[in-house]
Amino acid sequence: MIFLKVIMLVFGFTILHELGHVVCSHLLKLKITGIGVAYAPLPHFYVSVKWPYKLYQKVLYLLSGFFVYVIIVSGCLFFYSGNITNLSIKYALAIQLIIETNPIYSDFVILQIVKEIYVKSKNSINFKSLYKEAYTQHLFSKFWYLHFFLWTLIIFSLTKMI
Ligand SMILES: [Zn+2]
Repeated sequence: MIFLKVIMLVFGFTILHELGHVVCSHLLKLKITGIGVAYAPLPHFYVSVKWPYKLYQKVLYLLSGFFVYVIIVSGCLFFYSGNITNLSIKYALAIQLIIETNPIYSDFVILQIVKEIYVKSKNSINFKSLYKEAYTQHLFSKFWYLHFFLWTLIIFSLTKMI
């Protein structure tokens, strides 16, 4: 039963994460081009927008999903006065953090390669191919290994905390 609750909560957190991107795109006046499920490299929800020209817009847009997670954690900590005793919520928050910081397709991966794309995609025409190229270069680079290391550190700390 707890397994099902955790799955439902993670699903809910993911929807809220994507809503964060939607709200942010409205605030930044970015045109939403698609909301849905992508299957590669792993199944995940996504919100896509007409890629903004300004770097700060890209960064804010990419971080808006994780910002929602931070709000959720803060809200839970506040509600439980600093010690989340509900196991389902605790596990779901941990799983969500692992998903949101993963080094394969998370917003933090895009954030790392976004500067590179930014330089090349001022006209933003060929964003998809530019992204693919930058992603291939980023994978297994020293920054990627650093990200992977920090991610395993997060997972390790979470297993200690729970
Ligand atoms: Zn996101």
